[in-house]
Amino acid sequence: MAPRWPRQILFGDIDAMFASAAVLADPSLAGKPVAVGGPPPRGIIAAASYAVRRFGVRSAMPTIQALRLCPQLILVPPDRPLYTRLHRQLQEVTQRFFPETEWTSIDEFYADTTRLQTRHPDPHLLGRAVKADILHTTGLTCTIALASGKTVAKIAADAYKPDGLAVIEPGSEAAFLAPLPIRSLPGMGPKSTEAIERLGIRTIGDLLLPRFEPALVRHLGTRLAAFQSLARGVDSDPVVAERETKSVSHETTFDEDTNDPAVLEPIIHGFLETLAHDLRLEGLAAGAFTVKLKDAHFRITTRQRTFSTPLNYDPDMWPEIRRALADLLQPRSRYRLVGLGLSDLVSAPEPLFDRRQRDAVAALDRLIERHGSDIVRLGALPQGDARKKNRRRRMPD
Ligand SMILES: [Mg+2]
Repeated sequence: MAPRWPRQILFGDIDAMFASAAVLADPSLAGKPVAVGGPPPRGIIAAASYAVRRFGVRSAMPTIQALRLCPQLILVPPDRPLYTRLHRQLQEVTQRFFPETEWTSIDEFYADTTRLQTRHPDPHLLGRAVKADILHTTGLTCTIALASGKTVAKIAADAYKPDGLAVIEPGSEAAFLAPLPIRSLPGMGPKSTEAIERLGIRTIGDLLLPRFEPALVRHLGTRLAAFQSLARGVDSDPVVAERETKSVSHETTFDEDTNDPAVLEPIIHGFLETLAHDLRLEGLAAGAFTVKLKDAHFRITTRQRTFSTPLNYDPDMWPEIRRALADLLQPRSRYRLVGLGLSDLVSAPEPLFDRRQRDAVAALDRLIERHGSDIVRLGALPQGDARKKNRRRRMPD
């Protein structure tokens, strides 16, 4: 029986998730040079199967360039509802095994398995069981790595892909890392890597050699100590489990009861803008929403709907919410309170498919942070006008 580890972290990463999902949807694509992405001229590759990686095709590469490298490439459009469904199934598996899971992307997770060692004393058997359950539940293969820290587990998984199982025993971290290229270390960007490689320093092990120390200090400065700790396998970064907040909401009570959509819509829309902004900052997306109304007799009615895929960009969310509000409004009722909740929060999948939209949204979020949400409107609703209208309608008591 394997010895008990003082700390044990399990990292899981689905192999070429989007490309593998395309094969699940259409099994005739199995083994073929599939890539998921947008069409040329402006599209980019979101995920490349292992068959096209052999040609040098990588994710985030312009599709036009990928087609030059691999003319027989089969381009498949992204299928976000499918990815969301697969992510939920993956969560079912992790919930079966682990009390807490940290998702770092739609297909990557960490779990602290230190306390699971009583039930699963052999990390190889635990890793194999998780892999088998993921394959059985989703049809996807994954690579699992167990190590004493997150960084080593992640690096090991990258080194053992695809369909791999890596167990880096405590005490063997530095020896495992030593022969790997320095660019395998998180935080070691292409620029630093290039500069350091020019000094003749190529491997993670080289970072610990005293003869390179002066040159490394010149290039990495105070960051060197952190890289050296990682190179020794020292990494106590904790697994931060999924956040408690499964929903966010906002509501307000009116001075004057109303049933006028021209008053209610802009208020709900304003809530949506604020809540969606918060989700984007937290890297979350909402799978569902609830519109809530309280009438003059304090009766509460709600309408809950799910989005076809988790969203955090308010212009995409608004049409559904607006329809739900319209369905909920009763012509004879007047309302004293309106609220909006966003729920089924999940880690937001990186919107790889439309970088320009992502950059624009990020720029707006920075503006909102600096100046408050009133100066920037992602949607086109004239909220200010409607507020004035509300004020005009106010009757004296
Ligand atoms: Mg993956």
